[in-house]
Amino acid sequence: MRYLIISDIHANLEALDAVLAAAGTYDRALVLGDLVGYGADPNAVIDRVLSLPSATFIRGNHDKVGAGLEDTDGFNYLARQAIAWTAGALTPEHRSWLAALPRGPVAIDEIVEICHGAPFDEDVYIFDDLDAMRALRVSERPLCLFGHTHVPAAFHFDSEGRTVGMLRGTRVDLAIDGRSRYLVNCGAVGQPRDGDPRAAFGLLDTDTLTLALMRQPYDIAAAQAKIIAAGLPDVLAQRLAVGR
Ligand code: ZN
Repeated sequence: MRYLIISDIHANLEALDAVLAAAGTYDRALVLGDLVGYGADPNAVIDRVLSLPSATFIRGNHDKVGAGLEDTDGFNYLARQAIAWTAGALTPEHRSWLAALPRGPVAIDEIVEICHGAPFDEDVYIFDDLDAMRALRVSERPLCLFGHTHVPAAFHFDSEGRTVGMLRGTRVDLAIDGRSRYLVNCGAVGQPRDGDPRAAFGLLDTDTLTLALMRQPYDIAAAQAKIIAAGLPDVLAQRLAVGR
């Protein structure tokens, strides 16, 4: 089975379209939340992911606030500005659809589960080994895919929960041997924060047990122009160019 893994699209239609064009053939898309917030195309992004032939969705923190399920208490100033704009821009149908998205973690098959932040709390960030170890205690599959930080990362642990280290490079060879455990973030489609402005996504093949961490250039200027035209904070456009 080949999975396309996309997370943190953040209403960036240009980035999403570039990723879908680059993804090639796959059997099922896994969408790890934060479809909206920050960018200027929340409705078009939802329409696009709904048109995917086979997809599994979970919600992110911006989705639940944008849909009115939670208030903006946990949001910084910029995120608050953007989600207020988003809530006003969403059609009633799209708002209802977002509100009904399931909370992670969701088990996909015997190998994979997905969550937005961490498997025990969708709002918690996994940045380092300690965060990942906490997450591992509740993860129920050998490979847990997550998002939320907008930073690609791959953690590898042994059966005792000891870290084997961060995996480097763009390809993760998975040992599904009953002992190895993995927590992998394939990065953000629509607002990367690792200094690389290209859209990030993942391609997982559970037959060959390989996970490729992909980057794809897209029309950043077009996405920026829409953010400015929408009256969203300028910095949300500027950060796309630097991947921060
Ligand atoms: Zn996000």
